[in-house]
Amino acid sequence: MPAALTAHSATLAIDETLRARRAAGERVLHLGFGEAGLPVPDPVLTVLRAAADRNGYGPVAGSPEAREAAAGWFSRRGLATHAAQIVLAPGSKPLLYALLAALPGDVVLPRPAWVSYAAQSALAGKRVIGVPVPPEAGGVPDPEALAGALRAAPEAGVLVLTVPDNPTGTVVDRDRLRAVCEVADRHGLAVVADEIYGELLHDGGTIPRAAAFLPERTVVTTGLSKSMALGGWRIGLARVPDGPWGDAARARLVGVASEVWSALAAPMQAVAAYVLADPPEVRSHIDAARRLHGTVARAVHDEFTAVGADCRPPTAGFYLYPDLSPRRGALAAHGITDGASLATALLDRHGIGVLPGHAFGDDPQALRFRAATSLLYGDTTAERWETLRSAAPLDLPWVAAATTHLRQALRALTTHP
Ligand code: PMP
Ligand code: GLU
Repeated sequence: MPAALTAHSATLAIDETLRARRAAGERVLHLGFGEAGLPVPDPVLTVLRAAADRNGYGPVAGSPEAREAAAGWFSRRGLATHAAQIVLAPGSKPLLYALLAALPGDVVLPRPAWVSYAAQSALAGKRVIGVPVPPEAGGVPDPEALAGALRAAPEAGVLVLTVPDNPTGTVVDRDRLRAVCEVADRHGLAVVADEIYGELLHDGGTIPRAAAFLPERTVVTTGLSKSMALGGWRIGLARVPDGPWGDAARARLVGVASEVWSALAAPMQAVAAYVLADPPEVRSHIDAARRLHGTVARAVHDEFTAVGADCRPPTAGFYLYPDLSPRRGALAAHGITDGASLATALLDRHGIGVLPGHAFGDDPQALRFRAATSLLYGDTTAERWETLRSAAPLDLPWVAAATTHLRQALRALTTHP
């Protein structure tokens, strides 16, 4: 059986490994997993409790009220949408898999890109064409490099873009996104725009949208795992384009859904309908979350640059993607020569869990890794509320202990022994 059919996804695997080490009494700094690490606001809990007795399967694409709310949500963000364009699912991850499986052609990915796109493509029997991202921001390939790669890949059919990006924590600029959509259009590609971090720009701004540049053939996926920290509730949604191409894509997507997951859990559809209506208490909760993610990501960024790492300044979400190659000499003196030995040394010698760059399709020789900063907000619900509400979250003992732990480890690793 090919590895992609049996391997445990790197993000979920490291989360389970790190939690097991902690449970066994080890002191572990968890920078390995992109779980949003914040508590559930009371009004959301109330909606879920009130919907607990909804036990029917319901329509595969989602309840009319949830799809209507999702259509309004997109329309208020500049993409006029009607309810028939929406498909809800237990997370955006199954939607991404269903799209990669159902849309024709091989899959073009930015490099680096979130771990599951390549694995899902392999599961769907698709070849992956990786195209490097430019130094400014990740999630979207360089347009020239994309055009060059497509000339050599006539079977390419789908381009995945991540805006904002995981693993780099950055947002493509409008002009580059437009240029990439033009290239995709010229080559007849469909675009899957993964916008799951779209509400989490640290400055409260809005993302540029591929669906504005390639409206006929862009499918958008998003969900409540990141903005509302509801990953374990598994609420995802897709918006297919209006028009004949979108109708056909939707029919294929709903077909896969009907044979694989049937429908999003009915109580979760009530939660989706409530959150996607953008009530003020939800808006203020997301505002506080994105400010906190920015404050902590910037502080961790400072720790990496202080030891000489190259690292794009984070502008959205809760990831950093440092490159320690400027310190290759010092690291080599510690026996660290590539991404894997770097991640292993961080974990085994310093109790810090990160994912090496090659998990994201990057060069295994590179001294790059992803650090997720969203699990630094405390271990209990009470601590997480306190962190979210604090005017100075970096001074809270559990956050300060984490940055100190990281600082000491980075200094030790980058100092000649
Ligand atoms: N896309 C990206 C870029 C992600 O980081 C994640 C993380 N879980 C997902 C999609 C899938 O999220 P979910 O299935 O929870 O909607
Ligand atoms: N997307 C998150 C990450 O990149 C975790 C959840 C997942 O991969 O399914 O760490």
